[in-house]
Amino acid sequence: TAQLIDGKKVSEKCLNTIRERVAQRVAQGLRVPGLAVILVGDNPASAVYVRNKNMACEKVGFQSFSYHLPNETTEDELLSLIKKLNENAAVDGILVQLPLPPHLDSQKILEKINPDKDVDGFHPYNMGRLSQRMPLMRPCTPKGIMTLLKEYNIDVKGKKVTIVGASNIVGRPMALEMLLAGATPTVCHRFTYDLDKEVAAADIVVAAVGKPKLIKGEWLKEGAIVVDVGINRLENGTLCGDVDFDVAVERAAMITPVPGGVGPMTIASLLENTLEAAELRD
Ligand code: NAD
Repeated sequence: TAQLIDGKKVSEKCLNTIRERVAQRVAQGLRVPGLAVILVGDNPASAVYVRNKNMACEKVGFQSFSYHLPNETTEDELLSLIKKLNENAAVDGILVQLPLPPHLDSQKILEKINPDKDVDGFHPYNMGRLSQRMPLMRPCTPKGIMTLLKEYNIDVKGKKVTIVGASNIVGRPMALEMLLAGATPTVCHRFTYDLDKEVAAADIVVAAVGKPKLIKGEWLKEGAIVVDVGINRLENGTLCGDVDFDVAVERAAMITPVPGGVGPMTIASLLENTLEAAELRD
């Protein structure tokens, strides 16, 4: 049976470190880091994520600025808020919770965030930095996964890593992180032939698709390491990942649970990025 990779525990350790660094800053007479979170509309999952982010800010002693805008918010209104936050010296990080309502062009909006305050790491400048091996603000979920693997002494150098999912927020930056760390990544997506064979070839599998139990446990190489990013709500109300956990746990050497695996690490990375942004702006 696989060892569980406890993202909750590791994220708490990260939060403690951040809290100590914030206290040191205050003792030195420096500013408390500030994170602004913008939520547009009433997507229930987004509301939960935003609440968790605000709670985490409180835990580490950040100042949090929370904006809940109505679904009808226009592009101009959202852009003028971003402009105000770009100029606000107390704000180190700006996060626009995705997905935005369909009438708003998220790419256009993300590009208006000052890259120094882009704590989600989605601005093309920050993605470009990562792709050129000079990362600054790194996308939170892939960064959190790298932190998690490191905490468990999993060396990815030279390993075959199959990433299922190629989104801008998870799959692609995950591939860039893995390349940077010396792994050999393969990125699969909806047009990939023989997904089972790509998964079977991997020493490490990262699943970020958003389809419950798409990745079958039987596909895994014996002793593989499995990182499940998927968060899917089943009809009975429970959460499940993109990997068929019950079978996978019997074949894998290590596996992240859902919930309690990658999710908490994403928030830890967000806070780390915000602290780093504050330090860079001192
Ligand atoms: P997305 O919908 O933007 O991208 C999904 C990707 O999966 C696409 O590249 C698509 O080509 C690929 N795909 C779809 N069907 C496929 C198939 N049958 N075979 C192979 N590939 C297929 O999703 P996303 O934003 O990257 O999120 C993916 C999942 O991760 C979701 O469940 C989301 O909720 C979750 N997520 C979790 C966290 C976290 O902190 N744990 C963060 C972000 C996203």
